[in-house]
Amino acid sequence: MSATAPHPTRRVSTPGSAPGSDEGAVQGTGPGAAGARAEIVVDLDAIEHNTRVLSALVAPAAFMAVVKADAYGHGMLEVAAAARRAGAPWLGVATAEEALTLRADGDTGRLLCWVFAPGDDYTAVLDADVDVAVYTPAQVAQVAETAERLGCVARVHLKIDTGLSRGGAREPEWPALVAAAKKAQDAGSLHAVGVWSHLVASDEPENPVTDLQAAVFDRAVAVAEQAGLALEVRHVANSAAAVLRPELRHDLVRCGIALYGLDAAPGVMPAIGLRPAMTVRGRLAMVKEIPAGQGVSYGHAWTAGRATTLGLVPVGYADGIPRAASPGAEVWVDGRRRPVRGKVCMDQIVVDLEGDTPAAGSEFVLLGPGTHGEPTADDWAAAIGTINYEVVSRLGGRLVRRHVGGSATSHR
Ligand SMILES: *Cc1c(COP(=O)(O)O)cnc(C)c1O
Repeated sequence: MSATAPHPTRRVSTPGSAPGSDEGAVQGTGPGAAGARAEIVVDLDAIEHNTRVLSALVAPAAFMAVVKADAYGHGMLEVAAAARRAGAPWLGVATAEEALTLRADGDTGRLLCWVFAPGDDYTAVLDADVDVAVYTPAQVAQVAETAERLGCVARVHLKIDTGLSRGGAREPEWPALVAAAKKAQDAGSLHAVGVWSHLVASDEPENPVTDLQAAVFDRAVAVAEQAGLALEVRHVANSAAAVLRPELRHDLVRCGIALYGLDAAPGVMPAIGLRPAMTVRGRLAMVKEIPAGQGVSYGHAWTAGRATTLGLVPVGYADGIPRAASPGAEVWVDGRRRPVRGKVCMDQIVVDLEGDTPAAGSEFVLLGPGTHGEPTADDWAAAIGTINYEVVSRLGGRLVRRHVGGSATSHR
Protein backbone atom coordinates (compact mmCIF):
# COMPACT_ATOMS: atom_id res chain seq x y z
CA MET A 1 0.00 0.00 0.00
CA SER A 2 1.02 3.55 -0.54
CA ALA A 3 3.04 5.21 2.17
CA THR A 4 0.65 8.12 1.98
CA ALA A 5 -2.39 6.05 2.96
CA PRO A 6 -4.22 8.22 5.44
CA HIS A 7 -5.15 5.60 8.02
CA PRO A 8 -3.50 2.50 9.44
CA THR A 9 -5.02 -0.44 7.71
CA ARG A 10 -4.52 -4.14 7.85
CA ARG A 11 -5.46 -6.06 4.78
CA VAL A 12 -6.46 -9.50 5.90
CA SER A 13 -7.62 -12.20 3.55
CA THR A 14 -10.46 -13.74 5.48
CA PRO A 15 -12.97 -14.98 2.97
CA GLY A 16 -14.60 -17.15 5.62
CA SER A 17 -15.12 -14.22 7.91
CA ALA A 18 -17.55 -12.18 5.90
CA PRO A 19 -20.19 -10.54 8.08
CA GLY A 20 -22.72 -12.94 9.41
CA SER A 21 -20.61 -16.01 8.84
CA ASP A 22 -19.47 -16.25 12.44
CA GLU A 23 -21.97 -18.02 14.66
CA GLY A 24 -23.27 -15.99 17.53
CA ALA A 25 -21.37 -12.86 16.64
CA VAL A 26 -22.78 -9.91 14.80
CA GLN A 27 -19.73 -9.72 12.59
CA GLY A 28 -17.18 -12.24 11.44
CA THR A 29 -14.18 -12.25 13.69
CA GLY A 30 -11.72 -14.06 11.42
CA PRO A 31 -8.01 -14.55 11.97
CA GLY A 32 -6.28 -11.42 13.15
CA ALA A 33 -9.42 -10.08 14.73
CA ALA A 34 -9.88 -12.34 17.72
CA GLY A 35 -7.98 -10.08 20.03
CA ALA A 36 -8.94 -6.79 18.47
CA ARG A 37 -9.57 -4.11 21.06
CA ALA A 38 -11.64 -2.17 18.60
CA GLU A 39 -11.76 -2.14 14.83
CA ILE A 40 -13.63 -0.89 11.80
CA VAL A 41 -14.63 -3.86 9.65
CA VAL A 42 -15.47 -2.92 6.08
CA ASP A 43 -17.36 -5.41 3.93
CA LEU A 44 -16.04 -5.03 0.40
CA ASP A 45 -18.78 -7.34 -0.88
CA ALA A 46 -21.23 -4.65 0.17
CA ILE A 47 -19.21 -1.99 -1.67
CA GLU A 48 -19.18 -4.11 -4.84
CA HIS A 49 -22.88 -4.90 -4.47
CA ASN A 50 -23.80 -1.25 -3.96
CA THR A 51 -21.69 -0.24 -6.96
CA ARG A 52 -23.54 -2.74 -9.16
CA VAL A 53 -27.00 -1.79 -7.85
CA LEU A 54 -26.40 1.93 -8.29
CA SER A 55 -24.75 1.54 -11.70
CA ALA A 56 -27.72 -0.45 -12.98
CA LEU A 57 -30.18 2.01 -11.46
CA VAL A 58 -28.67 5.09 -13.09
CA ALA A 59 -27.76 3.59 -16.49
CA PRO A 60 -27.32 4.86 -19.16
CA ALA A 61 -25.77 7.56 -16.95
CA ALA A 62 -22.31 6.58 -15.72
CA PHE A 63 -21.49 5.97 -12.06
CA MET A 64 -18.82 7.82 -10.07
CA ALA A 65 -17.75 6.28 -6.76
CA VAL A 66 -16.94 9.19 -4.44
CA VAL A 67 -14.08 8.04 -2.21
CA LYS A 68 -12.93 11.34 -0.68
CA ALA A 69 -12.20 11.58 3.05
CA ASP A 70 -10.74 8.09 3.17
CA ALA A 71 -13.93 6.79 1.58
CA TYR A 72 -16.07 8.33 4.33
CA GLY A 73 -13.99 6.42 6.88
CA HIS A 74 -14.14 3.10 5.00
CA GLY A 75 -10.58 3.13 3.59
CA MET A 76 -10.01 4.87 0.26
CA LEU A 77 -7.72 2.44 -1.53
CA GLU A 78 -9.67 -0.71 -0.72
CA VAL A 79 -13.03 0.88 -1.46
CA ALA A 80 -11.79 2.37 -4.72
CA ALA A 81 -10.44 -1.00 -5.85
CA ALA A 82 -13.73 -2.71 -4.94
CA ALA A 83 -15.75 -0.10 -6.84
CA ARG A 84 -13.49 -0.52 -9.89
CA ARG A 85 -13.85 -4.32 -9.72
CA ALA A 86 -17.61 -3.86 -9.74
CA GLY A 87 -17.30 -1.70 -12.85
CA ALA A 88 -17.22 1.92 -11.66
CA PRO A 89 -15.87 3.94 -14.62
CA TRP A 90 -15.27 7.05 -12.48
CA LEU A 91 -13.83 7.83 -9.05
CA GLY A 92 -14.27 11.20 -7.35
CA VAL A 93 -12.17 12.83 -4.64
CA ALA A 94 -11.89 16.26 -3.08
CA THR A 95 -8.15 16.90 -2.88
CA ALA A 96 -5.14 16.50 -5.11
CA GLU A 97 -3.45 14.44 -2.38
CA GLU A 98 -6.31 11.95 -2.49
CA ALA A 99 -6.13 11.72 -6.28
CA LEU A 100 -2.36 11.18 -6.23
CA THR A 101 -2.66 8.51 -3.52
CA LEU A 102 -5.04 6.59 -5.78
CA ARG A 103 -2.67 6.91 -8.73
CA ALA A 104 0.30 5.82 -6.60
CA ASP A 105 -1.70 2.71 -5.69
CA GLY A 106 -2.07 1.86 -9.37
CA ASP A 107 -5.51 3.20 -10.22
CA THR A 108 -5.58 4.29 -13.87
CA GLY A 109 -9.29 4.96 -14.55
CA ARG A 110 -11.15 8.24 -14.88
CA LEU A 111 -10.75 10.25 -11.70
CA LEU A 112 -12.11 13.72 -10.89
CA CYS A 113 -10.67 16.00 -8.23
CA TRP A 114 -12.57 19.16 -7.19
CA VAL A 115 -11.07 21.09 -4.28
CA PHE A 116 -8.31 23.55 -5.18
CA ALA A 117 -7.07 26.80 -3.69
CA PRO A 118 -5.22 29.75 -5.21
CA GLY A 119 -1.55 28.96 -5.61
CA ASP A 120 -2.05 25.21 -5.95
CA ASP A 121 0.29 23.57 -8.40
CA TYR A 122 -1.54 21.43 -10.96
CA THR A 123 1.61 19.77 -12.28
CA ALA A 124 1.28 16.53 -10.33
CA VAL A 125 -2.44 15.96 -10.94
CA LEU A 126 -2.25 16.76 -14.64
CA ASP A 127 0.82 14.59 -14.98
CA ALA A 128 -1.16 11.81 -13.28
CA ASP A 129 -3.98 12.13 -15.86
CA VAL A 130 -6.54 13.37 -13.30
CA ASP A 131 -9.60 15.35 -14.43
CA VAL A 132 -9.84 18.65 -12.56
CA ALA A 133 -12.71 20.94 -11.67
CA VAL A 134 -12.32 24.61 -12.59
CA TYR A 135 -14.18 27.53 -11.10
CA THR A 136 -12.67 30.77 -12.46
CA PRO A 137 -11.02 32.08 -15.65
CA ALA A 138 -7.80 32.55 -13.66
CA GLN A 139 -7.83 28.88 -12.73
CA VAL A 140 -8.47 27.93 -16.36
CA ALA A 141 -5.41 29.95 -17.35
CA GLN A 142 -3.26 28.33 -14.69
CA VAL A 143 -4.36 24.80 -15.65
CA ALA A 144 -3.79 25.59 -19.35
CA GLU A 145 -0.29 26.95 -18.71
CA THR A 146 0.63 23.91 -16.64
CA ALA A 147 -0.66 21.54 -19.32
CA GLU A 148 1.22 23.42 -22.03
CA ARG A 149 4.42 23.15 -20.05
CA LEU A 150 3.83 19.41 -19.52
CA GLY A 151 2.87 18.88 -23.14
CA CYS A 152 -0.46 17.31 -22.20
CA VAL A 153 -4.11 18.24 -22.65
CA ALA A 154 -5.82 18.94 -19.31
CA ARG A 155 -9.35 17.57 -18.94
CA VAL A 156 -11.47 20.07 -17.02
CA HIS A 157 -15.01 20.15 -15.67
CA LEU A 158 -16.46 23.66 -15.52
CA LYS A 159 -18.49 24.23 -12.38
CA ILE A 160 -21.63 26.33 -12.40
CA ASP A 161 -22.82 27.53 -8.98
CA THR A 162 -26.54 26.83 -9.32
CA GLY A 163 -27.38 27.99 -5.80
CA LEU A 164 -25.23 26.21 -3.21
CA SER A 165 -22.97 29.26 -3.06
CA ARG A 166 -19.94 27.05 -2.61
CA GLY A 167 -17.51 26.48 -5.50
CA GLY A 168 -18.20 27.46 -9.09
CA ALA A 169 -19.07 30.44 -11.25
CA ARG A 170 -22.42 32.11 -10.61
CA GLU A 171 -24.63 32.59 -13.62
CA PRO A 172 -23.50 36.17 -14.37
CA GLU A 173 -19.85 35.03 -14.44
CA TRP A 174 -20.55 31.82 -16.35
CA PRO A 175 -20.08 33.13 -19.95
CA ALA A 176 -16.61 34.42 -19.01
CA LEU A 177 -15.60 31.03 -17.58
CA VAL A 178 -16.91 29.27 -20.69
CA ALA A 179 -15.08 31.73 -22.96
CA ALA A 180 -11.79 31.22 -21.08
CA ALA A 181 -12.15 27.45 -21.40
CA LYS A 182 -13.01 27.68 -25.11
CA LYS A 183 -10.00 29.87 -25.76
CA ALA A 184 -7.65 27.48 -23.98
CA GLN A 185 -9.27 24.54 -25.75
CA ASP A 186 -8.74 26.18 -29.14
CA ALA A 187 -5.11 26.73 -28.18
CA GLY A 188 -4.82 22.99 -27.59
CA SER A 189 -3.79 22.76 -23.95
CA LEU A 190 -7.13 21.97 -22.39
CA HIS A 191 -10.27 19.99 -23.10
CA ALA A 192 -13.51 21.07 -21.40
CA VAL A 193 -15.09 17.65 -20.97
CA GLY A 194 -17.69 18.47 -18.35
CA VAL A 195 -20.15 20.95 -16.91
CA TRP A 196 -21.22 20.20 -13.39
CA SER A 197 -22.87 21.48 -10.24
CA HIS A 198 -23.85 20.39 -6.74
CA LEU A 199 -27.28 20.42 -5.12
CA VAL A 200 -28.48 22.27 -2.05
CA ALA A 201 -31.18 19.94 -0.74
CA SER A 202 -31.19 16.69 -2.69
CA ASP A 203 -32.28 14.86 0.46
CA GLU A 204 -35.53 16.88 0.57
CA PRO A 205 -37.45 15.78 -2.53
CA GLU A 206 -40.14 18.42 -1.98
CA ASN A 207 -37.73 21.34 -1.70
CA PRO A 208 -38.33 23.69 -4.68
CA VAL A 209 -34.68 24.82 -4.69
CA THR A 210 -33.74 21.68 -6.67
CA ASP A 211 -35.92 22.71 -9.61
CA LEU A 212 -34.44 26.20 -9.56
CA GLN A 213 -30.95 24.69 -9.61
CA ALA A 214 -31.89 22.33 -12.44
CA ALA A 215 -33.05 25.31 -14.52
CA VAL A 216 -29.80 27.22 -13.94
CA PHE A 217 -27.86 24.08 -14.82
CA ASP A 218 -29.73 23.61 -18.09
CA ARG A 219 -29.09 27.23 -19.07
CA ALA A 220 -25.39 26.86 -18.22
CA VAL A 221 -25.08 23.73 -20.36
CA ALA A 222 -26.79 25.55 -23.24
CA VAL A 223 -24.37 28.48 -22.97
CA ALA A 224 -21.38 26.10 -23.00
CA GLU A 225 -22.68 24.18 -26.00
CA GLN A 226 -23.55 27.34 -27.90
CA ALA A 227 -19.97 28.50 -27.30
CA GLY A 228 -18.81 25.40 -29.11
CA LEU A 229 -17.86 23.09 -26.24
CA ALA A 230 -18.67 19.46 -27.05
CA LEU A 231 -19.31 18.12 -23.56
CA GLU A 232 -18.68 14.53 -22.62
CA VAL A 233 -20.36 14.63 -19.19
CA ARG A 234 -22.99 16.84 -17.60
CA HIS A 235 -23.32 16.00 -13.90
CA VAL A 236 -25.24 17.36 -10.97
CA ALA A 237 -26.63 14.43 -8.93
CA ASN A 238 -25.20 13.09 -5.69
CA SER A 239 -26.58 9.93 -4.02
CA ALA A 240 -29.97 11.29 -3.00
CA ALA A 241 -30.62 12.91 -6.38
CA ALA A 242 -29.38 9.86 -8.28
CA VAL A 243 -32.15 7.87 -6.62
CA LEU A 244 -34.91 10.45 -6.08
CA ARG A 245 -34.54 12.65 -9.19
CA PRO A 246 -33.95 10.42 -12.22
CA GLU A 247 -34.18 13.40 -14.60
CA LEU A 248 -31.10 14.90 -12.94
CA ARG A 249 -28.83 11.94 -13.66
CA HIS A 250 -27.70 13.49 -16.96
CA ASP A 251 -24.50 11.66 -18.11
CA LEU A 252 -22.91 10.91 -14.74
CA VAL A 253 -23.91 10.65 -11.06
CA ARG A 254 -21.52 11.17 -8.15
CA CYS A 255 -22.40 8.80 -5.31
CA GLY A 256 -20.74 8.80 -1.92
CA ILE A 257 -23.04 7.91 0.95
CA ALA A 258 -25.06 5.40 -1.11
CA LEU A 259 -21.88 3.56 -2.12
CA TYR A 260 -21.38 2.85 1.58
CA GLY A 261 -24.96 1.58 1.86
CA LEU A 262 -26.08 4.43 4.08
CA ASP A 263 -29.27 6.41 3.69
CA ALA A 264 -28.94 9.63 1.70
CA ALA A 265 -32.53 10.52 2.53
CA PRO A 266 -34.78 8.70 4.99
CA GLY A 267 -35.79 5.25 3.79
CA VAL A 268 -34.29 5.57 0.33
CA MET A 269 -31.36 3.20 0.41
CA PRO A 270 -32.96 0.09 1.93
CA ALA A 271 -35.71 0.46 -0.69
CA ILE A 272 -33.22 -0.15 -3.50
CA GLY A 273 -31.40 -2.93 -1.66
CA LEU A 274 -28.14 -1.25 -0.70
CA ARG A 275 -26.07 -2.82 2.07
CA PRO A 276 -24.21 -0.85 4.77
CA ALA A 277 -20.52 -1.76 4.56
CA MET A 278 -19.21 -0.66 7.93
CA THR A 279 -19.21 -2.34 11.33
CA VAL A 280 -17.35 -0.96 14.35
CA ARG A 281 -16.72 -3.70 16.88
CA GLY A 282 -14.36 -4.94 19.53
CA ARG A 283 -14.08 -6.55 22.95
CA LEU A 284 -15.29 -5.28 26.31
CA ALA A 285 -12.32 -4.29 28.43
CA MET A 286 -14.07 -4.97 31.74
CA VAL A 287 -17.42 -5.83 33.30
CA LYS A 288 -18.28 -4.75 36.86
CA GLU A 289 -21.10 -4.34 39.37
CA ILE A 290 -21.95 -1.00 40.94
CA PRO A 291 -24.39 -0.22 43.76
CA ALA A 292 -27.37 2.14 43.61
CA GLY A 293 -26.29 5.77 43.92
CA GLN A 294 -22.89 5.27 42.25
CA GLY A 295 -21.94 7.98 39.75
CA VAL A 296 -20.34 7.01 36.40
CA SER A 297 -17.56 8.67 34.36
CA TYR A 298 -16.33 12.28 34.47
CA GLY A 299 -18.42 14.69 36.49
CA HIS A 300 -20.78 11.89 37.47
CA ALA A 301 -23.15 13.12 34.76
CA TRP A 302 -25.10 9.90 35.32
CA THR A 303 -25.79 8.14 38.62
CA ALA A 304 -27.15 4.61 38.89
CA GLY A 305 -30.69 4.67 40.30
CA ARG A 306 -30.29 1.06 41.36
CA ALA A 307 -27.56 -1.54 41.49
CA THR A 308 -26.45 -2.48 37.98
CA THR A 309 -23.63 -3.91 35.91
CA LEU A 310 -21.41 -1.89 33.59
CA GLY A 311 -19.35 -2.76 30.53
CA LEU A 312 -16.23 -0.82 29.62
CA VAL A 313 -15.92 -0.17 25.87
CA PRO A 314 -12.32 0.73 24.95
CA VAL A 315 -13.14 3.42 22.37
CA GLY A 316 -13.54 7.14 22.93
CA TYR A 317 -13.72 10.58 21.42
CA ALA A 318 -10.12 10.38 20.22
CA ASP A 319 -11.31 7.54 17.99
CA GLY A 320 -14.10 9.67 16.56
CA ILE A 321 -16.95 8.83 18.94
CA PRO A 322 -18.42 12.30 19.58
CA ARG A 323 -18.70 13.36 23.19
CA ALA A 324 -22.23 14.50 22.38
CA ALA A 325 -23.19 10.81 21.97
CA SER A 326 -24.07 10.63 25.64
CA PRO A 327 -26.79 10.53 26.72
CA GLY A 328 -28.65 8.86 23.88
CA ALA A 329 -26.32 6.48 22.07
CA GLU A 330 -26.40 2.71 22.48
CA VAL A 331 -23.88 -0.09 21.99
CA TRP A 332 -24.77 -3.71 21.20
CA VAL A 333 -23.43 -6.20 23.76
CA ASP A 334 -24.48 -9.80 24.33
CA GLY A 335 -27.57 -9.77 22.14
CA ARG A 336 -28.98 -6.38 23.07
CA ARG A 337 -28.48 -2.65 22.73
CA ARG A 338 -27.12 -1.07 25.92
CA PRO A 339 -27.29 2.64 26.80
CA VAL A 340 -24.09 4.66 27.09
CA ARG A 341 -23.85 6.06 30.64
CA GLY A 342 -22.05 9.23 31.70
CA LYS A 343 -19.58 11.19 29.62
CA VAL A 344 -17.74 9.73 26.64
CA CYS A 345 -14.03 9.80 27.58
CA MET A 346 -11.01 10.17 25.30
CA ASP A 347 -10.31 6.44 25.19
CA GLN A 348 -13.33 4.70 26.72
CA ILE A 349 -17.08 4.71 27.19
CA VAL A 350 -19.24 2.97 29.79
CA VAL A 351 -22.43 1.09 28.91
CA ASP A 352 -25.19 -0.09 31.24
CA LEU A 353 -25.55 -3.88 31.14
CA GLU A 354 -28.54 -3.65 33.51
CA GLY A 355 -27.63 -6.69 35.61
CA ASP A 356 -26.31 -8.89 32.81
CA THR A 357 -22.79 -10.19 33.27
CA PRO A 358 -21.19 -11.10 29.96
CA ALA A 359 -17.51 -11.95 30.38
CA ALA A 360 -14.87 -9.30 29.90
CA GLY A 361 -13.69 -9.78 26.34
CA SER A 362 -17.24 -10.25 25.06
CA GLU A 363 -17.95 -8.64 21.74
CA PHE A 364 -19.44 -5.17 21.50
CA VAL A 365 -20.72 -3.58 18.32
CA LEU A 366 -20.83 0.18 18.24
CA LEU A 367 -22.54 0.38 14.89
CA GLY A 368 -23.22 -1.87 11.93
CA PRO A 369 -25.76 -2.64 9.23
CA GLY A 370 -28.42 -3.18 11.91
CA THR A 371 -29.38 -6.64 10.69
CA HIS A 372 -28.65 -8.26 14.08
CA GLY A 373 -30.19 -5.47 16.12
CA GLU A 374 -27.00 -3.46 16.54
CA PRO A 375 -27.23 0.35 16.29
CA THR A 376 -26.70 1.87 12.85
CA ALA A 377 -24.82 4.97 11.74
CA ASP A 378 -28.25 6.62 11.52
CA ASP A 379 -28.98 5.71 15.15
CA TRP A 380 -25.70 7.33 16.20
CA ALA A 381 -26.46 10.37 14.06
CA ALA A 382 -29.87 10.75 15.72
CA ALA A 383 -28.33 10.44 19.19
CA ILE A 384 -25.74 13.09 18.41
CA GLY A 385 -27.84 15.46 16.33
CA THR A 386 -25.87 15.06 13.12
CA ILE A 387 -25.98 13.08 9.85
CA ASN A 388 -24.67 9.59 9.12
CA TYR A 389 -21.97 11.12 6.86
CA GLU A 390 -20.33 12.81 9.83
CA VAL A 391 -20.59 9.73 12.07
CA VAL A 392 -18.70 7.42 9.70
CA SER A 393 -16.23 9.90 8.22
CA ARG A 394 -15.00 11.00 11.66
CA LEU A 395 -14.23 7.47 12.86
CA GLY A 396 -10.54 6.80 13.02
CA GLY A 397 -8.05 7.59 15.72
CA ARG A 398 -6.65 4.31 16.97
CA LEU A 399 -9.33 2.12 15.43
CA VAL A 400 -7.76 -0.38 13.09
CA ARG A 401 -9.50 -0.93 9.80
CA ARG A 402 -9.96 -4.45 8.45
CA HIS A 403 -11.42 -5.25 5.05
CA VAL A 404 -13.32 -8.47 4.46
CA GLY A 405 -14.98 -9.96 1.39
CA GLY A 406 -14.50 -8.52 -2.04
CA SER A 407 -14.15 -10.60 -5.18
CA ALA A 408 -10.37 -10.23 -5.06
CA THR A 409 -9.08 -10.83 -1.55
CA SER A 410 -5.50 -10.25 -2.57
CA HIS A 411 -5.02 -6.62 -3.35
CA ARG A 412 -3.34 -5.40 -6.52
C1 LIG B 1 -19.10 14.58 -1.38
C2 LIG B 1 -19.65 14.98 -2.69
C3 LIG B 1 -20.50 14.11 -3.41
C4 LIG B 1 -21.06 12.83 -2.83
O1 LIG B 1 -22.27 13.16 -2.13
P1 LIG B 1 -23.18 12.02 -1.49
O2 LIG B 1 -24.33 12.77 -0.93
O3 LIG B 1 -22.36 11.37 -0.42
O4 LIG B 1 -23.56 11.08 -2.55
C5 LIG B 1 -20.86 14.47 -4.70
N1 LIG B 1 -20.43 15.62 -5.24
C6 LIG B 1 -19.63 16.50 -4.57
C7 LIG B 1 -19.21 17.75 -5.22
C8 LIG B 1 -19.24 16.22 -3.27
O5 LIG B 1 -18.47 17.09 -2.60
